[in-house]
Amino acid sequence: MAKRDYYEVLGVSKSASADEIKKAYRKLAIQYHPDKNPDNPEAEEKFKEAAEAYEVLSNPEKKQRYDQFGHQGLGGNGGFGGGGMNMEDIFSQFGDIFGGGGFGSFFGGGGGGRRTKKGTNLRVKLKLTLSEIANGVEKKIKVKRQVVAPGVTFKSCSACQGSGQVKKVVNTMLGQMVSASTCGACGGSGQLVDKKPDDADSRGLLLKEEVISITIPGGVGEGMQLSMSSKGNEMPGGIPGDLLIVIEEAEDGVFQREGNNVIYDLHISFIEAALGESVEVPTLDGKVKIKIDPGTQSGKMLRLKGKGIKDINGYGRGDQLIMVNIWTPTTLSKEERTVLEGLKQSENFKPDPGKQEKSFFDRMKEFF
Ligand SMILES: [Zn+2]
Repeated sequence: MAKRDYYEVLGVSKSASADEIKKAYRKLAIQYHPDKNPDNPEAEEKFKEAAEAYEVLSNPEKKQRYDQFGHQGLGGNGGFGGGGMNMEDIFSQFGDIFGGGGFGSFFGGGGGGRRTKKGTNLRVKLKLTLSEIANGVEKKIKVKRQVVAPGVTFKSCSACQGSGQVKKVVNTMLGQMVSASTCGACGGSGQLVDKKPDDADSRGLLLKEEVISITIPGGVGEGMQLSMSSKGNEMPGGIPGDLLIVIEEAEDGVFQREGNNVIYDLHISFIEAALGESVEVPTLDGKVKIKIDPGTQSGKMLRLKGKGIKDINGYGRGDQLIMVNIWTPTTLSKEERTVLEGLKQSENFKPDPGKQEKSFFDRMKEFF
């Protein structure tokens, strides 16, 4: 089949400017748009022909070869394989034709071309203990995700020519515009299932349970969301969605978290506090012995450096703060009462506010 002259196709002269070429093509693209001419093979042929002509004449290098050698200069068939340009290529051209903003935005994003389809994201909750959070942990989680069934084959969606979008020309005050919407036949994937195993759904997908290993960094917190790229639901002809892991912090009976620090309440008797004592305290890494100095006041805060929670951004590890609480006996035997009565008037047993620990609020300013 002999090809028509590209200038003739667009109805412009050989000396036409780039702008004139663009305007001419734009007019034809609207005139012969398939949505405006349903079931009209002649219009479709003209639409494709115009697109091909514009493709060449809008490209300075191709235009020069065409001007010099004609169709032969482009590889004999215009350089478009046997079938000419496909619809997807043509629609992606529209981004240039109708410019940024303005008309372009009516062609599904203005940039033209198809967006990569992505499967849906999966979201799972993961409950972690404070010691898992402190150092980070390797976890295996079970996830049910949609995957493309083995053996399934796809064909291009005929309703949207594989673009995933259907375009409609509408008449508005500003002239004819094209609006794009997701293709209902293929759900935007641009593909339809050709052959599939019996257990796959109409999209060729199977629900599959998978065990996924994930490395949780130290220092995560309640409500934080980690994302594993491509571990969500698969999308035929597209890329898989992501797996989102939402962190939940389990209640800890021993420690209270305060940022990257953990707070531990230590209870000792007033005799231990007066005499001094070596006591065992739990940490997130196991038990350690600490020394209580003689004369330790209630409310004293001791610090175990680096025994807290790893910083999520890698700035070291927080501390364990030990709050010393001194126990006052609530019941006394007759003998105990006698002993204490005897000490009551001793100068050493009278409070000295100047030597007592700071108030809670002063400490808050100091530590947090
Ligand atoms: Zn479709």
